[in-house]
Amino acid sequence: MRAVNTENALPYLPFARPTIDDTMVAALADTLRSLWITSGPQVLALEQALSDYHGGRPVRVFSSATAALEVALLTAGIGPGAEVIMPAQTFFSCANAITRTGARPVFVDVDPVTRNMDLDLACAAITPRTRALMPTHFAGLPLPMDALYALARAHGLRVIEDAALAIGSRWNGKRIGSFGDMASFSFHPNKNITTIEGGALVFDNDVEARRAEQFRFHGIVRLPDGTRDVVVPGGKYNLPDVNARLGLLQLARLEEFIARRQQLVARYFEQLQTAPPCTLPARGDSGHSWNFFAPLLPLDRLKSTRKQIMDTLAARGIGTGISYEAVHLTTQYRTLGYQEGDFPHAERIARETLTLPLYPTLQEADVDRVCNTLRQVLWEARS
Ligand SMILES: *Cc1c(COP(=O)(O)O)cnc(C)c1O
Repeated sequence: MRAVNTENALPYLPFARPTIDDTMVAALADTLRSLWITSGPQVLALEQALSDYHGGRPVRVFSSATAALEVALLTAGIGPGAEVIMPAQTFFSCANAITRTGARPVFVDVDPVTRNMDLDLACAAITPRTRALMPTHFAGLPLPMDALYALARAHGLRVIEDAALAIGSRWNGKRIGSFGDMASFSFHPNKNITTIEGGALVFDNDVEARRAEQFRFHGIVRLPDGTRDVVVPGGKYNLPDVNARLGLLQLARLEEFIARRQQLVARYFEQLQTAPPCTLPARGDSGHSWNFFAPLLPLDRLKSTRKQIMDTLAARGIGTGISYEAVHLTTQYRTLGYQEGDFPHAERIARETLTLPLYPTLQEADVDRVCNTLRQVLWEARS
């Protein structure tokens, strides 16, 4: 092997990284040794802990937030003939979950500053077939919840909050999920806490929580004679106990993780507001849990493409991501008749967005390095 000088090489900074401590590793070994490894006591404990965290509301955990969103829709009785309104700028999960129930996603543009679904446009998109709103709390920044629920109430719509990025976020001091209709959280490794893969639904009543359990696991109900019946064509969306055990220890550190994210984002704002010419995300208030930090690149003033900028940053040790592409312009959703120009804000964000490294174990010096490197790369790419 060729000798390389790794002494001075700066570590590669991915754009997201889970925090897994020794206690978590030991607990997972413990759970494996118990030989109860799929859904069992740890799942019940995680559901209880998440319920406590959300003001005592019923919670069920799932194999992913994508599964949770699908189950939320099924539990609300949404299927063929129904329309569900969602933002054109979010992760693909929402549109796919709606489509898989037989319902139709109806996209609306996002607010260019908050990048959350524009509620006036959502209102204008309501038809007699509309059954639900499925907005995403973008990057962890809550929607204006009073306006969202006023709109839903005025039209008799369910609300399924895609809170994949927003566990621990607060609106007016209240945790997302601790009020409202249904909220779905993700525990993917890039999210605020992780169970490797996993998700959760918070409900406002026990009847729907129990119904969701059926959709989660084969549609099974247990009969008094000890046999099982199937009452709906349920999926296989349960979370294993090994994952749930990790979730319990992650949840215990969530507030600390969020505080750290907020500190690092403050550093990003400090470093980047003097640096032209990126468009920085909305700052929000202390209720923003900052799952990711994604400025928009000034591509019309650069001779490089975003891909070239990303490759150059990667070569200099900075990982970046795209959060997200415009859902309506994917091959699947163009089949509904959507095309370029339908949602200008979503399309601009999709074109220009660049997710920078942000995770609790990142250091202030790392943020400075990311900002200096980005500044340098943008300077080199100016047209
Ligand atoms: C990650 C994510 C999801 C899906 O979460 P999974 O747990 O990976 O299924 C849904 N919506 C948004 C906005 C996300 O970022």
